[in-house]
Amino acid sequence: MAKLRILEFPDPRLRTRAAPVKVVDDRLRQLADDMFETMYAAPGIGLAATQVDVHQRLLVVDVSVDKTQPLVLINPEILQKDGVAVTEEGCLSVPGYFEEVERYEHIRVRYLDRDGATVERDMEGLLAVCVQHEMDHLNGRLFVDYLSEAKRQRIRKRLVKDRRTESTPVAVL
Ligand code: ZN
Repeated sequence: MAKLRILEFPDPRLRTRAAPVKVVDDRLRQLADDMFETMYAAPGIGLAATQVDVHQRLLVVDVSVDKTQPLVLINPEILQKDGVAVTEEGCLSVPGYFEEVERYEHIRVRYLDRDGATVERDMEGLLAVCVQHEMDHLNGRLFVDYLSEAKRQRIRKRLVKDRRTESTPVAVL
């Protein structure tokens, strides 16, 4: 397993629309395993392939407290949706920011699992919110897109500035 580098807003690669996965093979399963390792280490409860600069429709989530319910969703599609849930969301690609976002409360999702089998599953609560957030990533959308332009620009400026500070060259002698 390997930890992967997570792209951070406003990296333009996060705006890429991911392509459908054609074959669920060992290479893809390895990627999913690496994404879990990256997500758990962060720590986070969801990660889309887009965030690690792989533009295929694959995401991993685990909303359990004890990290025992890993789910791999390949080519996910929302079949049904209803209700409203407002949740304070964060994102591994927008570190340090948490804002309320409105999403569907219940969703029915069809996807391929890590063995390539088709699954249809009803989701609600945090799992439903998390899957909608990660599916947005696959379409190049970020949770900050739900905020006002002014707020988004503030976050953008701050993150760009933070990164500039971090990458200041240090003389290693
Ligand atoms: Zn995210």
